[in-house]
Parts: sequence; structure tokens; C-alpha cells
Amino acid sequence: MSQTIAAIATAQGGAGIGVIRISGDNAREVAARVFTPAAKKKSVLTAAGYTALFGRVYDKNGAIDEAVALVFAAPKSYTGEDVVELSCHGGSFLLQRVLAAVLENGAAPAQAGEFTKRAFLNGKLGLTQAEAVMDIISANGEQAARAALAAHDGALYHKLSGIVAELVSLSASLAAWIDFPEEDVPAVQIDALSAALNSCCAQLDVLIAGYNTTRIVREGIHTVIAGKPNVGKSTLMNLLAGETRSIVTDIPGTTRDVVDITVRLGSAVLRLSDTAGIRATDDPVECIGVSLAKQRLLQADLVLAVFDSSAELTDEDKQLTEAIGSTPAIAVINKSDLPTQIDRAYIESHYKHIVEISAATGSGYQQLTTLIEHLFALENFDPMKPVLANARQLNCARRARALLEEALGALSLTLDAVCVNIDCGLDALMELTGERVSDTVIESVFERFCVGK
Ligand code: GDP
Ligand code: ZN
Repeated sequence: MSQTIAAIATAQGGAGIGVIRISGDNAREVAARVFTPAAKKKSVLTAAGYTALFGRVYDKNGAIDEAVALVFAAPKSYTGEDVVELSCHGGSFLLQRVLAAVLENGAAPAQAGEFTKRAFLNGKLGLTQAEAVMDIISANGEQAARAALAAHDGALYHKLSGIVAELVSLSASLAAWIDFPEEDVPAVQIDALSAALNSCCAQLDVLIAGYNTTRIVREGIHTVIAGKPNVGKSTLMNLLAGETRSIVTDIPGTTRDVVDITVRLGSAVLRLSDTAGIRATDDPVECIGVSLAKQRLLQADLVLAVFDSSAELTDEDKQLTEAIGSTPAIAVINKSDLPTQIDRAYIESHYKHIVEISAATGSGYQQLTTLIEHLFALENFDPMKPVLANARQLNCARRARALLEEALGALSLTLDAVCVNIDCGLDALMELTGERVSDTVIESVFERFCVGK
């Protein structure tokens, strides 16, 4: 027996129409106590699903408003329960009065996201689809809205179901073989098992990498231009910005403050900052600048490590290279218009992506653009493809991926360990889809919703 809940389902503030949604076993009874149809023979108690009745809403003091009652019979409703929606005039004072009448007549106020939570618990939609409901409401751009709608239609859910089904069958055949080795169970083919696990890993990798792409499409690529003084950082920044923004001088160390600008480069949007150097120093003020610069390197989506091709590499160039750590980086060998002096071998052994440019003449600009688009897979971004929508989903996908990696590693050791890791990976994926999820996780998903959804 589910408690009957009610809330104003439309936005607060004046509007043409406002809707009070009532859901639960007694939704019809509650509605019937406050709403009387104009046609005497009709009643919300007996109306078939998908019926609209015109009439009036009353409280103990008399008529409040004209309204249309929409009746949805369980299970064919948003929540899967009996639902009555009262569409009234949209004034917020009036809607509050209607809601008060509904609450006095037996409904409890709905918590944030409670309607959608009931829909999830009643199997009307998966957890990723429920989360997409919220993303649709809060989408503030064309692509974000299309991606949210695709998720609501189940794009991610279907992708994950395929991986889950594969893992369930692997786990089942492994378990059978482990438990009954002497019986007539087909022997586990290690090669096939390993291929299947690898395929699941690859599919998760696409999803995990896609999360970054989605974020980058939304926010832009946080890019740091780094390099010792005088290699041409400011000149590069100006080239990318298409106009003179930061000051270019011949005196090393002129660019002291971080300058931030946003530029479009092909299909990429770069949020650029030009940092001070990262050389070792005794000057305490400069030291703070250095550690801030190092921090920015590690937090960036991309580092453009600029080198001067017309000079030999120095310790400072090498310190920068060390400081980049595992942040994606492109070695930008600048001043390619001048005779070259640089140690290419060092650059090639430390950077996977290298581009030669002349920030002064603009040559190499196109290669840099193409390389960045490629690095972030922006050429083939498609908002209709399944994507992980939030940190919770990403976290589950990463956990599953790591456990499958463990399973692969255990293949040469013991099949028991393979089986355990596959099962744990399955748990993580089923937490992602909401098929096997703790109350705490469900609470935290739905408490981010607004009341009335
Ligand atoms: P930063 O200290 O790294 O920001 O370096 P700047 O952008 O201030 O440039 C230092 C000097 O190098 C200036 O005189 C620039 O004109 C010069 N420079 C920058 N890029 C190039 C280039 O591609 N070719 C040549 N020949 N000179 C350049
Ligand atoms: Zn500069």
C-alpha cells in the first residue's frame, strides 16, 4: 500500500496553467474529495485511464477554481500508480490553496523527486533514465538537451544491458565449471574468455572516454600554455586568439600573471591560460607562482608545452616536462622559421604528440588544430550516442572497468579470482543502471531533483 503524495508539478510563479499531481493508491479518492466534475454522472473514482474531466475544485470554504482532472490508471501512469493531475489556473496563491485542500483530504506532501523515484521503484524507468529526466529539465543548450533526451530514451541503458548480459553469461559458465569440474560442463576456453572480457573493457573505455568528450563539449578544453621565458608563449596565445591580447616582449619573464581567454580552434573550444615559468627558484614570491603553475599543469585538460627550436634545451625545459606528469600534452616546437638547434630526440622520447609551428608567421596552426580535435575525439562527437551523464555513473563505470582488468589479470592464475572479479564488476554496472543499488545511492540521486518531479 503506497502512501498518496501530492505536489505542485509546474514551475512556481505566475503562468497560464498550473498542475497539481496526486499519486498513490488513494489518488482517486483524494481527488474526488476536492474536485467535482461538471457532468453529474462522471467521477474521478470511476473514470477510465487517460480521461479528462472538466469541473471545479473546492476546499472547506467553497469553490477555488475551475480545473481539468486528468486521470491515469495504474500502471499506465508516470509513477506506475493511480495518478490524478488537476490542471488549474496558474497563479501561485491559487495553486497553494488547491494543494492545501488536497493535503487536508488525505495526501502527504511529495518529497523532492519522489514521483520519479516511485516511477523507478515501480520499474517504469531505469536509474540512468530517471537521472536523464533531471538533465532534460536543467539542459541549457541544444546538444545537452539532445544528449539528455537520448539517455531518457534508454541509449545508455541499452548499451550497458548488452555488457551486463555478456558478463552474466561469462560468470555463469565459469561458476558451473568451477563448481562441477568433473561433470559434463564444457571446459572454459581461456582465449574466448579473454576476448569477451577485452571486448567489455573496450566498450567501457569508449563510455569513459566519451564522458570527458561530453564535458569538453560543454565546458571547453582547459588548456595551459607552458614553457620557459621567451619561447613564444604569448605570441602563440595571440596567434590562437587572433588578436594581440597579452604583451609580447624580448625580455625573458615578462608574462607574470596568468591571462585567461577562450578561443575556438576548429571544432574545439580552448580555455587558454598562459602561465609563468616553473623553474626552481629561491625567491619566495616566485616560488608561490611556481607551485601554482605546477598545480595548473596537473589540473589542465591539455598542456601546450612550448619549446624554442632555435635554441638548445635547458634544465628549465626538462623541469617543465617532468612537471606535466600524466596530463595530456602536446610539444609545440616554436620558431620553426629559424635554423633549428633543438634536441629532437629528447622531445620525441618524452612527448607522444609533437607539432612544429612558427607562432610569429602562423605556419603549423592547422596541424595544431587537427591534432587537438583528434586528441579529444571531437571529429566524431555525436550527442545521440550513449554517454555517461554524471560523476556517479562515471564512477561506477570506472570501478567496473578496473575489476574487469583484475579479472583479465587473474586469467593466468585462478578461475575463482576471475569469477569473483567479474561478479564485482557486474555489481558496479548494475549499480550504474539501478538494477542492484543501495537505498543510500537512490536517496542521493533523487534528492537532487526538484519537488513535483
Ligand atoms: P614568452 O616569454 O614565452 O611569452 O615569449 P614571447 O611570446 O614574449 O616571445 C619572445 C620573443 O620570441 C619575441 O621577440 C617574439 O617575437 C619571438 N618569437 C615568438 N615566436 C616566434 C616565432 O615563431 N619565430 C620567431 N622568429 N620569433 C618568435
Ligand atoms: Zn609571455
